[in-house]
Amino acid sequence: MKRLFAAILVIALVSVYGLSRGNSRSSSETEPSRQLFDREGPGTADSAKSSRVSVRRRIAESDTYLGYALAEGDSMLRRWRDRSAEPVTVFISAGRVPGYSEDLRSAVREAFVRWERVGAIPVVFSFVRDSTQAEVEVKWIESFTIRRTGQAEVTWDPSGWLVRGLLTIATHFDDGRAVSREVVNTVALHEIGHLLGLGHSDDPADLMYPATSVQDLTPRDRRTARLLYALPPGFVRDP
Ligand SMILES: [Zn+2]
Repeated sequence: MKRLFAAILVIALVSVYGLSRGNSRSSSETEPSRQLFDREGPGTADSAKSSRVSVRRRIAESDTYLGYALAEGDSMLRRWRDRSAEPVTVFISAGRVPGYSEDLRSAVREAFVRWERVGAIPVVFSFVRDSTQAEVEVKWIESFTIRRTGQAEVTWDPSGWLVRGLLTIATHFDDGRAVSREVVNTVALHEIGHLLGLGHSDDPADLMYPATSVQDLTPRDRRTARLLYALPPGFVRDP
């Protein structure tokens, strides 16, 4: 299955983000892997360049953290296609680790619904019972070995369209304390932000700040997501 998938995509890249909880910013987040390739044929370079100029201007003029996140990463915008009519399929597994409960699973589910209700972006989700039918899987881990309670891995095609995601959520902090339902909900909101293509915010007041302390999406989180979904995916920097 995985091999077939990779063959279809030609080039699939995986990026890992993590949400660290605590006072300091996590230094252990994995840098997105990068692979450069020639995406433009002859004759399209000028229009592609002017499109990138216009995208960069819109980002620079916006009150969002999209520009910051691009500068921190590989300068590629990644997002899902319009999935308002064809929901992204999500499989939330039942955890087999200590501390897992159905209540935690429903906290994750509520986080997906929360993102939908924000109405910022044209993506809705449908929950499926069969993992093989799912584009997104949520799985559980007892704890990460580093200061982290959630992780998102996303896969995209060469144009920057997101095609797949894996979220991993811990039932305990790395010091052994069990996470509460509220924390799981916040962690899931943050990781779903990555799943949707958002990078990190530079403002501790935002949910997408790496060591977030807020429990809900802020207006700036919503503005950033809305802008991302108003732009074409792909590299914003000239090659
Ligand atoms: Zn994160």
